[in-house]
Amino acid sequence: MAECITCKTQATGQRGIAKFDCPACLKHQIIRCARCREIAAKYTCPACGFEGPN
Ligand SMILES: [Zn+2]
Ligand SMILES: [Zn+2]
Repeated sequence: MAECITCKTQATGQRGIAKFDCPACLKHQIIRCARCREIAAKYTCPACGFEGPN
């Protein structure tokens, strides 16, 4: 099960989602839905507090 880190939408099976490890700590997997990518919604890594648009 995977959900968008910003809007908590269920992301499994969605098109255009982005999945990557946190660029700061590499410990937490960041998942973003297509909509949040489109509007460049901010996310915060729950592991290290890193904030970023991508
Ligand atoms: Zn989202
Ligand atoms: Zn992090």
